[in-house]
Amino acid sequence: MTAGPSPQGIGVCRKPRVMTAIISKPDSQRKLEILSADAQYDLACACGSRDDEHRRRGGDGRWIYPVTLPNGGKSVLFKTLLSNVCAGDCGYCPLREQMDIRRCSLSPERLANIFLDYYNRKKVFGLFLSSAVPVSANAAMDRLNATAGILRKKHRFRGYIHLKIIPGASEAAIEEALSLATAVSLNIETPGEKKLAGLSNKKNYIQDIIEPMKLISRLTARGSRYSKVKQTTQFIVGAAGESDAEIVKYMGGLYDRLRMHRVYFSAYQKGLGDESIPGEQAKLEKPTDMFTREHRLYQVDFLLRKYGFRESDIVFDRKGNLSLTLDPKEAWARSHPELFPVNMNCASDSELLRVPGLGPVTVKRILKRRKAGRIRSIEDMGRVGGRLQKAEKYLVF
Ligand code: SF4
Repeated sequence: MTAGPSPQGIGVCRKPRVMTAIISKPDSQRKLEILSADAQYDLACACGSRDDEHRRRGGDGRWIYPVTLPNGGKSVLFKTLLSNVCAGDCGYCPLREQMDIRRCSLSPERLANIFLDYYNRKKVFGLFLSSAVPVSANAAMDRLNATAGILRKKHRFRGYIHLKIIPGASEAAIEEALSLATAVSLNIETPGEKKLAGLSNKKNYIQDIIEPMKLISRLTARGSRYSKVKQTTQFIVGAAGESDAEIVKYMGGLYDRLRMHRVYFSAYQKGLGDESIPGEQAKLEKPTDMFTREHRLYQVDFLLRKYGFRESDIVFDRKGNLSLTLDPKEAWARSHPELFPVNMNCASDSELLRVPGLGPVTVKRILKRRKAGRIRSIEDMGRVGGRLQKAEKYLVF
């Protein structure tokens, strides 16, 4: 998993320490505060259009998250780790074993009961459950499955459960998770084996991540027993010194070959990881650059999934990165002046979708409006907001 404590929340000490601080008998509420704070960087069920949108918390609880679900719907999830005790060594993760942070775990039974209390009071729609790896991948996966099993079998809970698949979990444990969850995610973290090797000595990219993803893809294929379960994944952006082009290339493979339902991106935040990893060495012009990069990757993801763009349409700079100042659609339009302006009255829907500022909803409105007569100016489309203003310079009437 990708996780990290709130910088304000539990006080990360950047000095590695071999000893682990176990809280002496904290109550469940305090444990939940710690564990939900540590789940905050796992964005596998959230995506916002603004840089900070998917990092917001709900108004009435630190573990209640407003999210966009894999089917596009909006809701609130109860999101936490079951444990933040970890034997892992992932250099980008503040929960790695040698860090001196407050560690604790909740039992599957306790977490199931706490969640149900929120659910029965209609505070949350479903559960997003992850965990660090206290002993072994299988032990962590078994505890996640046990929690979901208590909810499904003992309490007959039929609602939404998103389970993290722990890298390296056995086929049997993964299949059990699929039998219990509505959605599962296993974080790919980096585009390629070499990049992950620079961040962790313990995780094996192919065996622990790619092979289980393939297994999930097979087990959830159309017509199979678990075909209703959605698989998603997440890159940690900027930790491994990877380029945007490398991430986009892998993203294409994840959608095409593994039929991934969604790919998410989580910006690496300097100061949380090991000083030796590339993400800590990166020179940023502005502290927010990594979030802008994350946002640009989401925009590319939308262009590929919803706008008919191909990987070869995406414009990268000489280092293989997306522009931080121009959105990817506008960068493409500027590199193809021969295709503009587009005639608003006779262009096809796919040509209109390529115009910066026009999305699927506006294109539908344009096609409908055209049936009522010729569009003479952008004002004929009603109130002209920023996006239509942007589109106007690429259009003729
Ligand atoms: S396994 Fe790695 S990413 Fe997951 S909690 Fe442990 S150190 Fe962090």
